Amino acid sequence: MKFIADAMLGRLARWLRIIGVDVLYYPDIDDRQLIRIAREQDRTVLTRDAGLLHQKALRDYIFITSDDTFEQLQQIISLRNLSTTDRVSRCTVCNGSLTAVAGKREIKEHVPDFIYHNINNFFTCDVCGKVYWKGTHYTMFTKKLNKLFSGSKKA
Ligand SMILES: [Zn+2]
Repeated sequence: MKFIADAMLGRLARWLRIIGVDVLYYPDIDDRQLIRIAREQDRTVLTRDAGLLHQKALRDYIFITSDDTFEQLQQIISLRNLSTTDRVSRCTVCNGSLTAVAGKREIKEHVPDFIYHNINNFFTCDVCGKVYWKGTHYTMFTKKLNKLFSGSKKA
């Protein structure tokens, strides 16, 4: 399952990456490029732009109905039956895959000392090298996502 999000859906794209979904996002892409990449790479277009639906070349798409990021996420989760499992698996910045770091010394130079000493499991992006760990952000995401997946509204 692979997606490409239109220029209006940057926040949604980030959240989808947090739950491990492969989604491309380019803030300045035009309609024709968007559709071309979707077709070349067999990706479902996520769009909030009703105008795009008139493009003849558009094949597989989901029209996003809400302006609220969490409702958007919920729409995709329920349409595509996404699971809650594999959450730290994709870079929120560039969509690269994350790989667990074998020994944390590898990333010592790239994280604050406090984090280095208190966290044992790190991940790096295969593409841009950004370092990730399951810290406070992760806990916050997990709480929000648990609410979403359990079907209740956001707090
Ligand atoms: Zn990256």
